[in-house]
Amino acid sequence: MEPPSSVPPVRPPLWSRGAAPREPRAIAPPARTHDPASRPEETPHPRARGRRGWLVLATHNRHKVGELRALLGPLPWPVTGLDAFPGAPEVAEGTESYAANALAKARAAAAFTLETALADDSGLEVDALKGAPGVLSARFAGESASDADRIRALLKLMEGVPWEHRTARFRCVIAVARPLGEEWTEEGLLEGFIATEPRGDRGFGYDPIFWVPELQRCLGEVAPEVKNRLSHRARAARKARERLLREAQGGKP
Ligand code: IMP
Repeated sequence: MEPPSSVPPVRPPLWSRGAAPREPRAIAPPARTHDPASRPEETPHPRARGRRGWLVLATHNRHKVGELRALLGPLPWPVTGLDAFPGAPEVAEGTESYAANALAKARAAAAFTLETALADDSGLEVDALKGAPGVLSARFAGESASDADRIRALLKLMEGVPWEHRTARFRCVIAVARPLGEEWTEEGLLEGFIATEPRGDRGFGYDPIFWVPELQRCLGEVAPEVKNRLSHRARAARKARERLLREAQGGKP
């Protein structure tokens, strides 16, 4: 029997028809609950409806959203930052490991948004300093220190250390968490040496004192495109991208 003409036809949501929005900010995602358990039991989880979800980058930092988006490359899902989810919590980083930090951020974002979430954490490990500053890279030399302060403090600790013992690496861990609890991490490394003085004014953080054998230069001296081909973050992002795409072939997210 035909439905009465006053009843509007029920149309599936845009994303379930395969037309993922290109510009996530143009279509605000619905506000989510902090507590997935509070969803009525008879409401099927979005995954169960076969909906093509969002990939949420678990950060409010727009620079980071842009960088991660570029490093991940085109994906078959709309990608957005946490700013698209008003009220999403910012998780403070701990001191245990990069993986624990990245997982905590991804988990919190997945629980809040009920979408697949991706987070990263990275740092610089200097062999002569037994792996320091490591997870404390951003906080090295104090909470309010600048990049220049951190570089100065590190060079001071490295005074007199000969070149062959100035080995170091950047490490990045990317974590992906899904709202039903599944999670994994991928890691990327960039090996190099701590230069004896800053070189170049490009990049950020420790870039001016991180000398890369493959480039015969410090990261502070190279264009972003060059750094983004081989950086620890790019390497972790490539692995995460491949894993996400592999999983999508198996029906996720
Ligand atoms: P985050 O986890 O990516 O925010 O990185 C933490 C800290 O590690 C940064 O604040 C920097 O001090 C350092 N760091 C991480 N990645 C890089 C990089 O690519 N270049 C220079 N410093 C970095």
